[in-house]
Order: sequence, then structure tokens, then C-alpha cells
Amino acid sequence: MGTFPGGTILQFIACGFDPEIQVCWRARLQRLQGSESEGHIRFGAEMSTSEDFDDFFFDVVLTPAPPQDTLAVELTPARREVRPVLAGCFNAALQWAGRCLYTNGQLTDSVPVARDDTVRLRLRVFYSPSGLPASGASVRIVASATDPIGAHQHFLGRPTGRFFLLDDVDRVDSSTAGVPGQLRLALAEAADTVVIYRTTGVSGVERLFAQASAGGQTRVAQDSLLVRIPGLVALGAGGSIALIGEDDVHPQRWRGTPGMIAALQTLGDRIQTQAAAIAALPPAQRPAGIFPDRLDVNDMSLPWGGLFDQFGTWHHPHKEHRRGTEADVAVPAGPDYDDFARLVRLVWVRELGHTIVSERQARNHFHLRF
Ligand SMILES: [Zn+2]
Ligand SMILES: [Zn+2]
Repeated sequence: MGTFPGGTILQFIACGFDPEIQVCWRARLQRLQGSESEGHIRFGAEMSTSEDFDDFFFDVVLTPAPPQDTLAVELTPARREVRPVLAGCFNAALQWAGRCLYTNGQLTDSVPVARDDTVRLRLRVFYSPSGLPASGASVRIVASATDPIGAHQHFLGRPTGRFFLLDDVDRVDSSTAGVPGQLRLALAEAADTVVIYRTTGVSGVERLFAQASAGGQTRVAQDSLLVRIPGLVALGAGGSIALIGEDDVHPQRWRGTPGMIAALQTLGDRIQTQAAAIAALPPAQRPAGIFPDRLDVNDMSLPWGGLFDQFGTWHHPHKEHRRGTEADVAVPAGPDYDDFARLVRLVWVRELGHTIVSERQARNHFHLRF
């Protein structure tokens, strides 16, 4: 006996094969009592021939019908936070990353660098609640990069991440490989596979959507990945520190590690103390040069670190300023500022033990490394 969902009414007529008797049955099947899912039904039938007529009833037990299977899709990243690309010559628009090699000041070649921004995505398409695989499902996975904290206030040409199949895993670090933006798949019998996603390499949030279709049904799953250097904090303005170089493209450019922030504060305080001591001297005893009374801090790092594309082009010239451990501080060129430059070196290099790249002549600043 099969099962009959509650409320079902069946009617059928069948005739016997004996030409002498010509028996026909008319049967009517209807649930008479019990719940939708289980209970008793009463089976009633009329039997008739040309001369005779009779009827009878008997009860059968109704068993619950299994719920209908519906399509389900799962997209599960192996991790949800990665580091942005830190390579100095990263071009996010071309997805080209490398160590910069210069000849006579010209960029001549690059050496690929390993990236730490790839994530394995487990994709599973199945029927629920039975758990049966949705064999032959077609799937489209789409990635889009977003910037919920407004680090990069420029949008033209924002790159997309890239997808790789497992067979291509060896090519993940070779910049331009992979399928950009979206991937289409026809799943085999298991309907369970792994896809590799390499983010844009730029800090932000990357959202992933998987749309699966099978058996006339379509379902969507989504997840998101965080691309960032965690733990960067804002350098506070005021006192011995001034923030300079503001623009609308990267409005939050003064983030650093807590250690970097503390070191800059120490440097600023030393400058302010020294300026006050000079100002307290009788004019005749003051040194000849100009001595600023505060530290002017230009570019540091963006809120979540990674590529700081100074000109909104999604690539260098900034080759550092990625990790919250570098800052450009104003140290003007010219002999008037030599005493000031000497104090900055003394504090940053000799006392605090960090390093300086001087861009004083070309760009009126020291590039401080923590
Ligand atoms: Zn930018
Ligand atoms: Zn710099």
C-alpha cells in the first residue's frame, strides 16, 4: 500500500476481463478522519454489474508523506580574513605584484611574490532535507569588492578578485592568472567541490555570491571576506603632532601600529621641547636655522593597510606605507633646516633605533620606518 497525503481523493473505475460477467468497479478513496500527516482513511467502493450492485468499506492506515526536497547551496570559505598584498610594486588593476627592480631609476623588471590573500571556498549543492547531491547543478559565483570604511574614496577601475579551479592552484601567485569577477561551473555527480578565490589584494570587504540551479529550482548563498591588516590605530592631531597632506581620495591616511604611533608621539614631543628651549634663549644665542615647533606628519597607512595608491590609480608609486609602520614627515630641504633634520635623525635613529630614508631634497620629507 502506498501513502496518501491527507485530503487526497482518488477515483477510479476498473472492469473485469470476463466477457460473461462484465464486472466494473467504481472506487472512491477519501480521507475521512485523522490528521493531515497520519490517521485512518476509509476506503469505499461501489461494485456493479448489469444485474447486481453492492458496496463495502474498509479502513487503511495513512502514513506520513516525506516532506518535499528543496534545493540548497552552501558556500563556505576556509577563512574569512586575509592580508592585503604588501608588495611594493603592486598594481591591483592589472593584478600584477612583485618586488621592484630598478635600473637607473627606471622600473625594469619584477620578481613575483607569494600572496597571502587566497581562500578555499567549499561549494556544496544538494537537496534538503534528504541531503542528496544536486547532480549536474549549474553554479555561478560572483565576487564584488566593497569599502565599508571609506579608505579609498575613488571607484573607477576598482579591481575584482579572481577564481581558480583546483587544477590551477599552482598559478594563484602568478598575477594575471585566474578568472576575474565571476566563475561558472557545471557540477558533476557529487555536487561538492572546492574553488579557490584570490582577493583583489586591496584592503576592504569582498562579498561572494553563489547562485545554484538544478531541477527547476534556484538558490543563492553568500559570504564575505575581510582583507586587512588588523589593529592599526589613528594618529591623533594636536599638541606636538599636525596631520598634513589631506585629500578627498584617501581621507584617512594617518593610521599606524600602536608602536609606530607611540614613536611618532615621542619624536613630536622631543621636537616641541627642543623648539621651546630654543625660543627661551636670548635672541643673540639662538641658532641661525629655522626650528619647527611640531612634527608635520603626511602619509602613513590607510585604515586597514595594504596598497596606498597615492594618486587613486590602484597601483604605486607609494611602495611602502602598507603595514602601519612608515610615515612621511616634513623636513624641508635647505641648510636652514639642517639642525631640525639632525634632531629628527638623533631621536628616530639613535634613540629609538628605527630607520630613515631621506627624501628631503626631492620631496621635503623623511620617510620614517618603524
Ligand atoms: Zn586608493
Ligand atoms: Zn614614504
